[in-house]
Amino acid sequence: MSDITILGLEGTAWNLSAAIVNEIDVVAETIAAYKPAAGGIHPREAAQHHANHINRIVRETLEKGGNTISAVAFSQGPGLGPCLRTVATAARALALSLDVPLIGVNHCLAHIEVGRWKTPAKDPVALYVSGANSQVLAYRMGHYRVFGETLDIGIGNALDKFARSVGLQHPGGPKVEELAKQAKRYVPLPYTVKGMDFSFSGLATAAQESSRKHDLSDVCYSFQETAFAMLVEVTERAIAHTGKDEVLLAGGVGANMRLRKMLAMMCEDRGVRFYVPERRFMGDNGVMIAYLGLLMYKAGSRTSISDSGVNPNYRPDEAEVIWR
Ligand code: AMP
Ligand code: MG
Repeated sequence: MSDITILGLEGTAWNLSAAIVNEIDVVAETIAAYKPAAGGIHPREAAQHHANHINRIVRETLEKGGNTISAVAFSQGPGLGPCLRTVATAARALALSLDVPLIGVNHCLAHIEVGRWKTPAKDPVALYVSGANSQVLAYRMGHYRVFGETLDIGIGNALDKFARSVGLQHPGGPKVEELAKQAKRYVPLPYTVKGMDFSFSGLATAAQESSRKHDLSDVCYSFQETAFAMLVEVTERAIAHTGKDEVLLAGGVGANMRLRKMLAMMCEDRGVRFYVPERRFMGDNGVMIAYLGLLMYKAGSRTSISDSGVNPNYRPDEAEVIWR
């Protein structure tokens, strides 16, 4: 057993989080969540929030987790530009002052890897559903391949956008889930799957219009049934294509019990195992960044300062997977 200890910094959007992990478990974690006063996430406001809190977050995490850090990992992308830059600047400064290597990680892959760490999943088809991202991925020959993805906005943003338009506060996903439980009937909404890709923007708009004529809980329910059926359909086809026998759910929208139920039913029908990590590892968190940093560190990956620029559109399939 080595004593590698990685400090990870996450701050791609709403959650600023620092964590220290070793190969066995989480050693320390501190979070500071940005909550918009009104409306959705404002990139520069969120970045200002991160700048205001990062010092304390890092200090508290080091105090809890000890000062022997092997490397500093950070989310290099994808995410909101101003947020990414703020946290990357802190990560560079921290790595230089601790005199340890810096490791830039792909945020989407961190969601998947923490799930492989914290569940028995070994080689799953991953459904990654968060605010800005919605993708179906699986590993093959040195890369996580994107089998299907949203053509416009992420499912979380679609839920949040619709929720805001009917007067619910950000984040809307959990509120839509609650309201959906009181529904009495399904109202038809556009179901958009094109090949292996899906789209949510038209659904969000149609749901908003539908809420003028129909009961809000019926529309919330119908939104979920429609959007989640699209996600389940593509996940199921990815299983059929790849022949894999596990599904891993990742990302903040994965907290939704109805989505879990629908995926669990599909997996049972196909005889594949279905894995959902603990809630704290599903939405954006520093633990996943530290953990992927640890895998990359062990595989010999290091990010020079000159290569540490952020990439708001960093795709998961661009990253060379040297740790599997
Ligand atoms: P992430 O970007 O991975 O941290 O996920 C954030 C997104 O998850 C936001 O869009 C939330 O609205 C969404 N979310 C959180 N909880 C739920 C839920 N129970 N049902 C649906 N969406 C949710
Ligand atoms: Mg995320």
